[in-house]
Amino acid sequence: MSGAAGARRSTAKPQVTDTSDNRGGEGEPSLAAASLSGLCPRCGAKSLFDGVVKLAPRCRACELDYDQFNVGDGPAAFLILIIGAVIAIGAIWLELSFSPPFFVHLVWLPILIGLTLGGLRLGKAALLVQEYRTGAREGRLKE
Ligand SMILES: [Zn+2]
Repeated sequence: MSGAAGARRSTAKPQVTDTSDNRGGEGEPSLAAASLSGLCPRCGAKSLFDGVVKLAPRCRACELDYDQFNVGDGPAAFLILIIGAVIAIGAIWLELSFSPPFFVHLVWLPILIGLTLGGLRLGKAALLVQEYRTGAREGRLKE
């Protein structure tokens, strides 16, 4: 039963150019390696990012079109909740444990920026790699 469902699911793969060979390629890095280092999910070149957190439009090595993947704001929503909780708990703990002068709490600013940028990079890369591997795309109506 699950085989039939799986077969049906795989035949319903959306028609997208450029990703017909998105599984089982030889140069494909692991999800962890691609996410941590910003590697292209198809060829493994370090070409996923144009800036600190800005995705490149396409791979410079294999021309994989990154714009076709819709990473959206998914990572940002998770980061707001997770990093916000970590920083709030840390600030409350610091205040209740040591009652430092107010300016000591400025230490949270670089931690916040570092966690946000690192988390955004990691989250965007992981989502893009997973979209590439699973063939996930926006829903479309049949013409
Ligand atoms: Zn590539």
